[in-house]
Amino acid sequence: MITSDPHLRARTLVEALPYIRRFHDEIIVIKYGGNVLSDAGSSLTELAEDVALMRSVGMRPVIVHGGGPQIDDLADRLGLVPSFVDGLRVTDAAMLEVVRMALLGAVNPAIVTALGCQGAAAVGLSGADSSLAMASRISTDLGFVGSINRVQTGVVAELVQAGVIPVVASLGVETGGQLLNVNADSFASALAVALGAAKLIFLTNISGLLAEIDDPDSLIAQAAVDQVQGLIDNGKIRGGMIPKVTAALDASMGGVERVHLIDGTVPHSLLLELLTDEGVGTMIVGGSR
Ligand code: ADP
Ligand code: MG
Repeated sequence: MITSDPHLRARTLVEALPYIRRFHDEIIVIKYGGNVLSDAGSSLTELAEDVALMRSVGMRPVIVHGGGPQIDDLADRLGLVPSFVDGLRVTDAAMLEVVRMALLGAVNPAIVTALGCQGAAAVGLSGADSSLAMASRISTDLGFVGSINRVQTGVVAELVQAGVIPVVASLGVETGGQLLNVNADSFASALAVALGAAKLIFLTNISGLLAEIDDPDSLIAQAAVDQVQGLIDNGKIRGGMIPKVTAALDASMGGVERVHLIDGTVPHSLLLELLTDEGVGTMIVGGSR
């Protein structure tokens, strides 16, 4: 929202100062949901503006992205039918190929390019680059779907130190070299923990965690472990929100002090979350290990 009142505009900038100071030099991992990307091209530009601004004021952003809708779209054009178990994509060899094409061929370069257009140096990677995310298969039913068991931060940490923004596609690699499809939320969580991030922000297509999915007024501003488990057990958290809240809790318990779920379809929600006193979305409170 642009106000014409110069005092208000100045106040907004001054309000940002303590946050800029607090997060100066800190790593902030941003998980960018494919659902945000698919909404409109403009949201990609806004994301890039926000992330470029973060970098300009001395924060060290790292982006992890999925690409659910883009994968579905390509699968559809190739005549493959997607299926999911508890929010995770069943991935046979053909679907893995589609996942690779969509993430590494389309989504990743789109984000990197958008950042470049905002003057930010960004480099695209996947979990296979420099063996960043070592993973193993979750179950035979899910096929080539992995969970991360080791993060080797080397190259990403060096990029971050050099002021470059790593943009990481959520693919992991098995010891034998097989690529695995890793849910981007759990990827972001594992990376945030390994990098010692000060903050992890999940940008999604909904205002946050809702107690009743059909009631937008039921936003949970602060969610703790017990409450989240209760909501999962009662079937109140479904689909892609299951791996998301699980990943958020893992990060919180792994030492990431601030974990937030926010609506990435709201223009500049990332900046509002980072730089203003206004609370947006859901903050996950997991306690420390
Ligand atoms: P992303 O691309 O950001 O990972 P997902 O589709 O995987 O998005 O997950 C977000 C979706 O989870 C929401 O759009 C919503 O439909 C669904 N969801 C299920 N249960 C809930 C809940 N209790 N609160 C909010 N969203 C929920
Ligand atoms: Mg998802």
